[in-house]
Amino acid sequence: MSYVIPAWDLPSLPVAGSDARFPVRRIYCVGRNYAEHTREMGGDPTRELPFFFMKPGDAIVQNGAKIPYPPQTKDLHHEIELVVALKSGGADISAAKALDHVYGYGVGIDLTRRDLQGAAKKAGRPWDMGKGFDNSAPCTALVPASRIGHPAKGAIWLKVNGAPRQSADLSAMIWSVPEMIAYLSGLVELKPGDLLFSGTPAGVAAVVRGDKLEGHVDQVGDLTITIV
Ligand code: MN
Repeated sequence: MSYVIPAWDLPSLPVAGSDARFPVRRIYCVGRNYAEHTREMGGDPTRELPFFFMKPGDAIVQNGAKIPYPPQTKDLHHEIELVVALKSGGADISAAKALDHVYGYGVGIDLTRRDLQGAAKKAGRPWDMGKGFDNSAPCTALVPASRIGHPAKGAIWLKVNGAPRQSADLSAMIWSVPEMIAYLSGLVELKPGDLLFSGTPAGVAAVVRGDKLEGHVDQVGDLTITIV
């Protein structure tokens, strides 16, 4: 294949315990998947169907990075999330088979320009510029499910400059990982390399330049980024 402009490298993530990397295709994110966070965003945490938005694959940022404070916002929020990486895809995947498609898990932050997201909501416009901006998807190395299984419970937390901001348990998800994969695969055909950011617990708040963000999910890992 020849291209009329130089082709770029695929976005990718390291894999814990391996020199090979995981190629990132698309980044799907679920909204309002923990009841307390749904309430803090003004929603009703009944079990309504999950909804999804996206970030570009190259919004991925590596663990340890310094992330420039993004433009056009005065309200950059952290959302700590368990990230699910798919090794295979498909359409209409059943919840019972969904975990067979999971390569592994990472710890990610769904960085959000909350002011732009809020303005978009109010105007009935897309969330893309609030959610899918440059460097909006920092994520750790992936830990293969072959090593840790499929974590459905365990602590998930985020600290800013050492102070706790978000703290919950994965078991508090409204929609489980297999349920989300099943539902999403009924909307789009999922593909190898796709990531799913599985939603954030309560405690989202703003960060400023100089803040150090530390995120953790039991069994999966620790993410550290600095906003500069
Ligand atoms: Mn989120």
